[in-house]
Amino acid sequence: MTTPAPVPTRKEIQITGIRKHVAECVTEIDGTECGAHSNVWDTAMYLDVWIRAHADEYEHKKFVKRTEEPVNVYTKPAKRPQ
Ligand SMILES: [Zn+2]
Repeated sequence: MTTPAPVPTRKEIQITGIRKHVAECVTEIDGTECGAHSNVWDTAMYLDVWIRAHADEYEHKKFVKRTEEPVNVYTKPAKRPQ
């Protein structure tokens, strides 16, 4: 038995906007995450700056960097028979 491959569909995914970058502090304090977020930027270059500043201020040490980009899904027209 092999793992079945995902069934191909005619769904297409198209990026519709600018990729956004945000950093989040996931340092645990008394069992809950800090949860502080940076601003959302069009570039990743400010994330490290924000992380260093937050780490300096609160001595927090665990972060995640997230990127997100808006996409639309649309269905391609059916292929014509060859
Ligand atoms: Zn924090």
